Amino acid sequence: MSRNAESTAFRSALEVIRAVEPRVADAIGAELTDQRESLKLIASENYASPATLLAMGNWFSDKYAEGTVGRRFYAGCQNVDTVEALAAEHARELFGAAHAYVQPHSGIDANLVAFWAVLADRVESPALKKAQVRQVNDLTEADWFALRRELGNQRMLGMSLDAGGHLTHGFRPNISGKMFDQRSYGTDPATGLIDYDRVAEAAREFKPLILVGGYSAYPRKVNFRILREIADSVGATFMVDMAHFAGLVAGKVFTGDFDPVPHAHIVTTTTHKSLRGPRGGMVLCQPELADQVDRGCPMVLGGPLPHVMAAKAVALAEARRPDFADYAQRIVDNAQALADGLLRRGATLVTGGTDNHLVLIDVSGYGLTGRQAEQALLDSGIVTNRNSVPQDPNGAWYTSGIRIGTPALTTRGLGTAEMDQTAELIHTVLTQTTAGANADGTPSKAKYTLDADLADKISRQAADLLAPHPLYPAVDLT
Ligand SMILES: *Cc1c(COP(=O)(O)O)cnc(C)c1O
Repeated sequence: MSRNAESTAFRSALEVIRAVEPRVADAIGAELTDQRESLKLIASENYASPATLLAMGNWFSDKYAEGTVGRRFYAGCQNVDTVEALAAEHARELFGAAHAYVQPHSGIDANLVAFWAVLADRVESPALKKAQVRQVNDLTEADWFALRRELGNQRMLGMSLDAGGHLTHGFRPNISGKMFDQRSYGTDPATGLIDYDRVAEAAREFKPLILVGGYSAYPRKVNFRILREIADSVGATFMVDMAHFAGLVAGKVFTGDFDPVPHAHIVTTTTHKSLRGPRGGMVLCQPELADQVDRGCPMVLGGPLPHVMAAKAVALAEARRPDFADYAQRIVDNAQALADGLLRRGATLVTGGTDNHLVLIDVSGYGLTGRQAEQALLDSGIVTNRNSVPQDPNGAWYTSGIRIGTPALTTRGLGTAEMDQTAELIHTVLTQTTAGANADGTPSKAKYTLDADLADKISRQAADLLAPHPLYPAVDLT
């Protein structure tokens, strides 16, 4: 394929859009410019391939396809069947999974599908069994009452939010925290690492229906074999949410005890983070949960997005190629180079380093809150996000941490030398930023001062780092 084909495709698409609503075409073009110019260290973002992006912009979007491959509630789904079956096959092969369900629209949706599947499989309710075998009309009001109470009274044990867990792992602001009675396991205050003995103890005391592994902001490997043993010891279903690190599993950086797929009963993920696919979600599971998982739509999901499933098939095919394993290894090499560069300059990192794609800086060492640090870095052309650190004194809004990740910059081709220079830029901004004060003289958690000339200088240096590594090099919209 000629590189020119990518330029022509995107240019033609914008021309067609521009004829209807030029402001949308302009915004799409501006988004490319912005992404090209920013040093993107958001651990959950990436850049999907042109093939993945283009697979989404077509008439698959026009199809309703409720149901599963070969068993649709709508006619004319033969081509949707093709792409959904392909995406599922690539997912099974890539991850060595018995079953893959590729309809979830996002990671949160994938978790809802998983929660429902486990509840439906595990809750010993005669009313639920009736409902499952299409005797719904025979259910009495009392059955419904019992069913709702039984479903809503189950227990979930997951990683605590401030140790890096995710909102959907049973926390109150999310529906999972309203569906489940939740308890969480944290990390050892001294090392920042998961203490598996404490997890086992919590499991023994709490007896969860579901033990959840997985995180959004934990910079280390997780031993899924041990977590599975803990789940088995209390009869819990072991679920892993690998939304952040699916690319590292796909690229065989996480193997053996650290690969969740052979150990978990059910695994959920996003497809757009380190996996580098379209914005979406996916569920992998053992055979006994497959039927329940396949009920995801319409049980908790809206109609499938066939254009996104087509893009998932493309991205998963890409992830099965040998160069994806190189990519995954470079993500981790880059994160470690970034961590080493920061440590050498005196930064404090949660757990003292990383063995995955992300680094969590405790910015209280610089006298800043996460919010001040995030904004000062943004002023300097460096895009990160603030994040709680374990036992964070500043809460979830201001926080004391900055989470940085390497999947996106690694896609652009930056390597370990550039990561060291990135560490220098970050460290310079954070040392030169000073916390501000409120009108009454008390310390502000939001205000800060950073010399504008310095911010400009760092922005130019960030741009210089990116210049040799153009984003979507084959795409020229001018
Ligand atoms: C990002 C993330 C999600 C949510 O994914 P969305 O696609 O935004 O819904 C769920 N779980 C974990 C662990 C995540 O990191």
